Order: sequence, then structure tokens, then C-alpha cells
Amino acid sequence: MQKVLISGASVAGPVLAYWLRQYGFEPTIVERTPALRHGLGGHAVDLFGSGVEVARRMGIDEAVQAARTRTEWMTLFRNGKKPVEINVDKLSSGISDRHVEILRGELTSLLYDATRDRVEYLFGDSIATLNDDGHGVDVTFEHGEPRRFDLVIGADGMHSTVRRLAFGPEESMRRPLGGYLGVYSMPDELALGNRMFVHMEIGKIASTYGVHQTGQARAAFLFRRQEELRYDYRDKDQQKRILADEFRDYGWEVPRLLKHLDAAEDFYFDSITQITLDSWQRGRIGLVGDAGYCPGPAVGGGTSLAVVTAYVLAGELAAARADLPSGLRNYENKIRRFVDLSRAVGPKVMGSIIPGSATALRAVPLVASVLPHLPLWAQRKVWSQNGVGKALDSLPLPDYSDLVRVPQS
Ligand SMILES: Cc1cc2nc3c(=O)[nH]c(=O)nc-3n(C[C@H](O)[C@H](O)[C@H](O)COP(=O)(O)OP(=O)(O)OC[C@H]3O[C@@H](n4cnc5c(N)ncnc54)[C@H](O)[C@@H]3O)c2cc1C
Repeated sequence: MQKVLISGASVAGPVLAYWLRQYGFEPTIVERTPALRHGLGGHAVDLFGSGVEVARRMGIDEAVQAARTRTEWMTLFRNGKKPVEINVDKLSSGISDRHVEILRGELTSLLYDATRDRVEYLFGDSIATLNDDGHGVDVTFEHGEPRRFDLVIGADGMHSTVRRLAFGPEESMRRPLGGYLGVYSMPDELALGNRMFVHMEIGKIASTYGVHQTGQARAAFLFRRQEELRYDYRDKDQQKRILADEFRDYGWEVPRLLKHLDAAEDFYFDSITQITLDSWQRGRIGLVGDAGYCPGPAVGGGTSLAVVTAYVLAGELAAARADLPSGLRNYENKIRRFVDLSRAVGPKVMGSIIPGSATALRAVPLVASVLPHLPLWAQRKVWSQNGVGKALDSLPLPDYSDLVRVPQS
């Protein structure tokens, strides 16, 4: 059996491993964190149309539906204005008639459960070096023994190690969109339940939403900043200080949210940045999901993109079987248009979720509250005109079912 090493056990990695196993490959996943980021951690992410369809083909669609976040209402606050109530379900059904919002940790757990019996997982390790000699790839690890694989795929996110080792430093392929985001868990002091509160100012938003599975809440902050902030993306304390300084004088419920920042163990902070690399394969090494073409966290539908492209990558490798590098090239050609559309969406979505001007601050709540009341065809038209619907719900999924070599379990 051909052996494939996948770096990263979040979304793209396990989806790829699942399908490779179906097609008779032997996948191994190496994940830097010592154990799976279980269940309820992380932030809410979206699966749209074709992403939901991949979940159905994997037989996990019912579990994904059951685990959805169930945020039904969003209340938008602005200083000096009446709060605006928005029906979240209706708003997102305008983008796609098949849409599920789920916590990333929950999705990862479901994908792990769907693969754990048939895929080798190596937790708490990372690739240290890669040497592709044209016939295979010799890999050394930070901890484990060196091994040789037929193919290596980086599914290790925006700050991918595989990408750095095989394609070059991250600095040369980043496109910051001028925004930052921070997210963490906290007690549900505002009794949010299935509700989300969002407070907007020009250039900043503070929000909090209930997580029904844990009875907790999550605080999420976004802000604009044209010049890049300098920080170490592994230094959480430094990032917490940046966020606290940025929102110190914000008002609204922010002091209550910031009170829990220091203690937050699942704190996430990063810049809203796209990865602009235009080729995601080199010999026997490839990239999938955020590692290859992150469209910007929270603004570009990265989760659907990761799921769908991992499915296509596995299918193209199976179709090429004897010539894996050509499978990688075919994958690249198949997904390019979809990736381009997702990249185009990021700046537009960022423009609407973090208002950049007084006009945007007036327009965003108005549009968000009116849209759900329009007929579905009109909502679709609006979304497709700004590119969102088109990008997130557009890739026709190829059918690779005749390549399956092992019975569905
Ligand atoms: C705060 C936030 C909000 C978001 N909101 C949304 C949203 O609303 N909708 C949406 O669709 N998307 C959203 N996203 C984006 C979404 O999370 C990603 O696009 C998606 O998770 C990409 O999946 P991935 O598997 O490619 O990469 P990731 O989910 O980033 O996973 C990478 C994995 O690789 C592991 N790893 C990293 N380095 C190494 C290494 N050296 N060795 C081994 N393993 C390694 C990591 O631990 C991780 O498990 C959001 C992201 C963030 C951060």
C-alpha cells in the first residue's frame, strides 16, 4: 500500500486521511498537539453546500447536524442606537440552502472518530525535515524515528511547517487583510443561551455567544489595523496583552468579557491573513486547506474549503495512483478556481463584519436585518453578487466512488 504522511489533525487532515483509506492508501497523521483538541473547544466554523455533501458521503452528516451550534438570534448593538435583532438561521440560508455552523473542536472530534480505527495517528510530534528524492520522501520528526513515505501532505494550517520546509518562509506568501481576531471561552454571565451579542464601532467589534453544549459562552473580538502588529504567534500572554490594550476603553460589556481573558486556556489570536502561494504541490509534497490557501480566518469559508479540497485531493491521488505527483497537479488544477473565489471573498466579508467607516456602521445592521426577510431568490442574488454565495457553494463535487477499494465501515 502507498504510504501518505499528513501533517495536521484538524479538518483537512482527517478528511484527506478518511478518503485515502477508502481508496486503499495507508495514511499516517502527525499532529503537533499532545492530544486531540477535543469536542467543544475552538471557534464556530461553517460548512456550506459542497462541504456538507462531503460530510454526507463520509456518513457523518447526521452527527454534524446534531452537533451544530444552534445560534438562532444575533443582537447588534451600536453606541446611541437601538439594538437590532437578526435571525441568524435565515441570514445564512440565503448563502446556501445547506449550511451548518459547528465548533471546530466538535468537527475535529467527529472526523477523528470516523478515522481513528483505520488511520495511524501520531500525537505530540512534528515533522523536522523532508527530503524528496523523486521516488519517495524521507522524513525526520522532532521526537519519533525517521520514516519514508510515498507522499507528504501539509494540512497543518496557516503557519504550516510542511509549507515552510518545502515551499519557503511564510513572510513571502502572506497577504494581511488589515484585521485581527481573538477568541476564548468564558462563563455565560449574560445568560446568552442560543443568542449572540455583537457590539460594533468603526474598526472594532466585540461579541459573545452561548455554547449550548457546555453552558459556557465564547468571547470574540475583531479589529482593524493597517500596519502589521509584531508578535510571536506562539506567545499567548503577549497576544492577550495586545487584545486587552486594544479594547481597554471600549465600554459596553467588554470589561465583563475581558475579566476572563487572563484565565482563558483556549485563547486564540491571529491576524486575518491570506496565504497567497499559487502552487500547492512540489514533487511528492503537497498542501491542503489553510496550509496552502488560507482565505483568512473567519472571513473566507476556510472550513468548507478545507473539507472540499481534501476530498478532491484524495480522489485525484487515487485516480493517478501510480503517478502521485501528477495526481497532485490534477488536484491543483481542479481546485484553483474555487480557491481564487474564496480568496476574493475574504476582503469583502471583512469589510462587512468590521465596519471601516460611519457609512458601513450604519449599513451593516440594516442589510443584515433586511436580508432575512427577502425571498430566498433575492437573498441568493445579493450574496452571489458580492461573491460570498458563489465561492462557498460553488464547487461541483467530482464522483470518485468507483475508486473505493475498501468496503464502507
Ligand atoms: C477564530 C477563528 C474563527 C474562524 N471562523 C470561521 C468561520 O466562521 N467559518 C469558517 O469556515 N472558517 C472559520 N475559520 C477558519 C477555519 O478554522 C479554518 O479555515 C479551518 O479550520 C482550516 O482547516 P485546516 O485543517 O486546513 O487547518 P487548521 O484547522 O488550522 O488545522 C491545522 C492543524 O495542524 C496542526 N499543526 C500545526 N502545526 C503542526 C506541525 N508542525 N505538525 C503537526 N501538526 C501541526 C494544528 O495543531 C491543527 O490541528 C476560523 C478560524 C479562526 C482561527
